[in-house]
Amino acid sequence: MKLNFKDKKALIRVDFNVPLDKAYKITDDTRIREAIPTIRHILDQGGSAILMSHLGRPLEKRNADGSINTEKFTLNHLVKHLRKKLKAKVHFANDCIGKQAIKKATGLKPGEVLLLENTRFYPEEEGGDAAFAKKLAVLGDIYVNDAFGTAHRAHASTTIVAQYFDKQHKTFGFLMEREIENASRAMKNPAKPVTCVTGGSKVSDKILLLEKFLDYADNILIGGAMAYTFFLAKKGAVGNSLVEADKLKIAKEFLKKAKAAGVKVILPKDSVCGDKFAADAAVQVCASNQIPDGWMGLDIGPAAARSFASVIRKSQTIIWNGPMGVFEMPSFANGTKVVAKACAAATKKGAFTMVGGGDSVAAVNQLKLAKKVSFVSTGGGAMLEFLEGKELPGIKAIQG
Ligand code: AMP
Repeated sequence: MKLNFKDKKALIRVDFNVPLDKAYKITDDTRIREAIPTIRHILDQGGSAILMSHLGRPLEKRNADGSINTEKFTLNHLVKHLRKKLKAKVHFANDCIGKQAIKKATGLKPGEVLLLENTRFYPEEEGGDAAFAKKLAVLGDIYVNDAFGTAHRAHASTTIVAQYFDKQHKTFGFLMEREIENASRAMKNPAKPVTCVTGGSKVSDKILLLEKFLDYADNILIGGAMAYTFFLAKKGAVGNSLVEADKLKIAKEFLKKAKAAGVKVILPKDSVCGDKFAADAAVQVCASNQIPDGWMGLDIGPAAARSFASVIRKSQTIIWNGPMGVFEMPSFANGTKVVAKACAAATKKGAFTMVGGGDSVAAVNQLKLAKKVSFVSTGGGAMLEFLEGKELPGIKAIQG
């Protein structure tokens, strides 16, 4: 953040969409903690911060009479916690636009914070309404976007509002800068060999990502349920494994494209199979293209895990998206664990490893390995789209 915030009011889009329990207590404050450096930096420079965010889906989860459940979805629940974390004066405006918000924003002193009410109380937020965005824009002198997780949406507070600020008056926050820098580092001129690891449930969700990987990967490792669609496309027997029977052509074409591009695609030789999709399923290891009827592949097998780990350990850049199996169930978590450990080992040897854009983040956190890889993205769908090579509206709105 190169701009000077002294005596300026920064209108900051944060992601405070935190989980709350029944008594509206925050159960995981990661997103708040992650926003603190940007806010603190602005306050320390002698600026003030006006924070806007959404919380949940208030328009979809309305009261029985159709009104918005303001008690459940108010950002007021966060004020006390924010005061404690920021050690600053935090005011609250009952509305994110209008008279009260303007009055409170105008009266804000350097070093103080104003938290605005949930932007999603207005349909105009997700609708990307320009008039609504303008009403947000009048509150601040500089617009700061630090909500990478919503950067793929052209919502009013994440994208449209930026058009009311010129280049000298809008910027990314630290969190967003870091996400963009790390993903760009992985995609543009990465140190070779580059290995991309994908998993998760569906080929259809990941095909754009796989195709983009062909631009820069040396190896593509495919685990998770999506591997079985590839085996089926190659006329293997996949038993009851989760497959997308209508994506066989796409899978075949992808393998052809990879061959033409000289990219090695490695599928899991063996699988840990269960007789049902359950934690207490009976388990056996099978060749992934010879899974008996009544059995389903729920994790990559031990031989596959060893070969995936060996490729990862020899790589200089690793991008990992999606678990290798149903890691939520202990019987089917080994493949994901081995891949996570191999990423940690590669990082230790100097490789750049980035985990992001899906459930692999949860897996790395569950295994307590998040600090042992180079970067864990918090971006979810936004990171997936970034890695797919799409232009994210929230990024374009700042960079122009
Ligand atoms: P995604 O959101 O596409 O990254 O998929 C993540 C989900 O895929 C996780 O909840 C995993 O449990 C699930 N998954 C991974 N491997 C398999 C598999 N072999 N069969 C069924 N589900 C799987």
